[in-house]
Amino acid sequence: MYRATKDIKLPTTITGSLPRPSWYTENLGTRSFLDAMVSTSFRDQYVDTVSVYLHEQEVAGLDIVTDGDAHFDQDIGGQSWTAYPTRHMAGFERGNPRPTPAGKGGLWFPPGHILHDYLESRVMANIVGPVGRGDLQYTPMWKAAQRLTKKPVKFGTIGPELVAFAVADRHYKNIKDRIYALADAFNEELHELADAGCEVIQFEEPQIHLLAVRNIVDAVINPKFSVEVFNRTVKGLRAKTEVWCHSCWGNPSQQRMFAQVQSYKAALPLFNEVDADVITFESCSAGGMDLEAFGQTIKDKKIAIGVIDHHTLQIERPEEIADHIRRALKYIPVERLVISSDCGMGREGMSRRHAFYKMVALVQGTNVVRRELGLPEATCLAADERYSLVVPTK
Ligand SMILES: [Zn+2]
Repeated sequence: MYRATKDIKLPTTITGSLPRPSWYTENLGTRSFLDAMVSTSFRDQYVDTVSVYLHEQEVAGLDIVTDGDAHFDQDIGGQSWTAYPTRHMAGFERGNPRPTPAGKGGLWFPPGHILHDYLESRVMANIVGPVGRGDLQYTPMWKAAQRLTKKPVKFGTIGPELVAFAVADRHYKNIKDRIYALADAFNEELHELADAGCEVIQFEEPQIHLLAVRNIVDAVINPKFSVEVFNRTVKGLRAKTEVWCHSCWGNPSQQRMFAQVQSYKAALPLFNEVDADVITFESCSAGGMDLEAFGQTIKDKKIAIGVIDHHTLQIERPEEIADHIRRALKYIPVERLVISSDCGMGREGMSRRHAFYKMVALVQGTNVVRRELGLPEATCLAADERYSLVVPTK
């Protein structure tokens, strides 16, 4: 059901992660979030970081905010996004983690490539028993952020497939059973989060489009199965809250996983089948090449387009963003269009100021279009000339 985006035209948000402040030196490691929050040094740094993240998004003028994925550790390429569940769910071995073997298939990155470090950093616990929620503790994390702001905090999570692909398994007989078990555990966790009042939950990166464009015809791991996994993971959630399905072409170390810019076209009919209210698409990095296809294929869900690129340090100009939104509005009705970033900006490589000014540009660009359409504009304090420290010459 629509909650966070219910009453806003052209709502603005980002995908999730933000660059770490340099003074945030604590990491969770294998400690649970609640355990770590007992420590004054962790709690101070964590709460300060989330406060800064929320404040920067509010100063930019975003409508829906995130906690910047502040619970993730300072890992190579943002590996913590994948590793967090393996360190905190039940069924994983504690101790003795080793790099997960990587196949030399389509997404193999040889030594000498920056993403080889990412492969070497997949130091994951093995599955040794039935998988369960364990200490994921998404609800207390969301609460720790939501109590600092009146804006809805979107909570994002990795999905079961990527966790299943990243670990060695000594318990389940096949990968399908492993993915189902992870899906059911995430589903239980997300229900608790929705019951606690979270107005928007973002499920990140089902493999639908990544399998569809690579023409994967595997009997088990194929795009149809990926839709089934998504729907199993979010089962029942839309009766309680707003569910987003995020898709992109990768962002470890702010890299895309493919050498060439990809088109979503082959996967779009499948996105119609996912049990979500909003589908997010990377669009800035592709120059908006799929906008017409998004509008023609996705007819009964909201469509979030990325108008800022997480791979580059160049800050998009508000006029460019406004133009991107105008192009999207040719194919997507204004009441179904959401404005976002292509992906998270905090998985190693971008500075806080770059991420901040990208968010500011995102809101300024959206405001240009809102003005043209007679819609209410968001306050963007960061761009208010009254507070400039430089006195303009006459
Ligand atoms: Zn992404």
